[in-house]
Amino acid sequence: MICDCNQNKTGLSPYPLRTIEGITMKKEYALLSNIIFKDYDLFIPFICLRTGKRCQTFMPHISDNDLEQIACYLHKKGEEIQNQYKECIKMKHTATPLPCIFLNKETKECTIYPLRPDCCRLYPFSFGGGDLNCPGYREHLRIVETMVVGSSDYTVYDSSFYPHEDPRSVPVGEWKKLLRKFMDAKPSPSMVQAFIDLNHIPEAIYEENEEIKRLA
Ligand code: SF4
Repeated sequence: MICDCNQNKTGLSPYPLRTIEGITMKKEYALLSNIIFKDYDLFIPFICLRTGKRCQTFMPHISDNDLEQIACYLHKKGEEIQNQYKECIKMKHTATPLPCIFLNKETKECTIYPLRPDCCRLYPFSFGGGDLNCPGYREHLRIVETMVVGSSDYTVYDSSFYPHEDPRSVPVGEWKKLLRKFMDAKPSPSMVQAFIDLNHIPEAIYEENEEIKRLA
C-alpha cells in the first residue's frame, strides 16, 4: 500500500467539521451550538477541559482500511495495529473497557489527532445528543438552555448538524438582555472569552459590561 497520510493531514473523513463562514475559528472553538432565533444567530462554544476521560474507556469503530492508513501514519505494521484494535474492541462493552489504543497515557493526547474518526472530532456532540458525563458539555448545555429561556421561536443546531448558512448578527439593542442571561448561567472565564470572540460582541457593549470585562 502506498502511504499518503503525510500529505493528507486533514483526517480520514470526507466530511470536514463544519465551521462558520466569515468567522475565524480557533481550533478550540471548532465545536459549538448555533441558536437560530427569529432575527439573529447566537453561537455557544464548547470548551474542552482536556480531561481525556472519554478516550480512557472508549475505542471508536475504525474500518480496516482506515486502520491501515493509521498504521502507516504511526510507522507501525498494519497487523500490529489490527491486533491491538481487535483486543480493545473485545473489551469495549464489558465492565472494564480498555483505553483507546491511540491514547498517549502520559500526555493524554491523541496520537492520531489529524486522522481521528468523526465521532472523536465531534465529541461530545457525537453521543446521541451529547455526553452528559463530559463537564465541558454540561457547561455548554447549561448556557444553551439559559439563553433560550423565555423564547419560543428558535432552533438549536450543534456542530454535528450545523446548516452552514450565513450567520445573522445580533442587533446591538439585544446585547444587554443576552449578556445578562449569559452571565446568569455562570460561565467559566474561557467560555466568556470564546463567547465574545464567536459572537463579535460590539466593543462599546463589551466596554460597558464590567462583569464580562472582569472575566474575559
Ligand atoms: S482516536 Fe484519539 S480522540 Fe478518538 S478515542 Fe482514540 S485517543 Fe481519543
